Amino acid sequence: MADGAGNVNSIDNVDNVDKNVGVNAGQEGRENKNGGKWAAAWAALKAAVQTCDKCGLCATRSHVVFGQGATDTPLVFVGEGPGEDEDAQGLAFVGKAGQLLTRILSAGGISREEAFITNVVKCRPPNNRVPTPEEMMMCGGFLEAQLLLLRPKILVCLGATSTKWMLKTTEGISALRGRWFDWRGIEVFPMFHPSYLLRDDSRKKGSPKDLTWQDVQALREKLDRYGKEVRQDGTGA
Ligand code: SF4
Repeated sequence: MADGAGNVNSIDNVDNVDKNVGVNAGQEGRENKNGGKWAAAWAALKAAVQTCDKCGLCATRSHVVFGQGATDTPLVFVGEGPGEDEDAQGLAFVGKAGQLLTRILSAGGISREEAFITNVVKCRPPNNRVPTPEEMMMCGGFLEAQLLLLRPKILVCLGATSTKWMLKTTEGISALRGRWFDWRGIEVFPMFHPSYLLRDDSRKKGSPKDLTWQDVQALREKLDRYGKEVRQDGTGA
């Protein structure tokens, strides 16, 4: 599948990041997630992101938003890009949409603190516009390096932009949400972006909120299944 950004060679992006931060992110992620080498690779990646000026978004940002949360986690969320509140605080999903996401997950028994949350682009696009394919291509390598280091079991794509970016598809989020896909051995689960839910308050059957509630329950079930596997084999591998 390919979209407007489908000509992007994502492996090249990761290789470039690896050169920038001086580590092989994928290998470190597979070898020793909790070791000193892993921590050094993660810190180097974070430093590279924090000082990045690879695309024009660096000129208008207040803060780079690397992402935050647990790093030893089966669950990562990825959105489109920082908004006004996120840009001001340097943290992902802390505005109204982020607060709604926290409440929805919490109602489904999922704690945001137990997950890592980030975006495709790490700097705010002016006026919250959708990042351009060029900006996502420049920044996407950082996300890939994060995922290769974190090695989650599940990646939830919040909204159309991150879903299209990860799956290289032109299909709309309404057709993709609630379904499971694969990205390099990580299960990808698209859901509506919480800012979309803020714009539609209906809770009727089939409404975005109703569908999201179904998705959160499916996500909870999948997490429970992984939790059971971890308890059974004692490794989580
Ligand atoms: S959006 Fe990404 S690529 Fe662009 S300046 Fe920020 S960190 Fe660098």
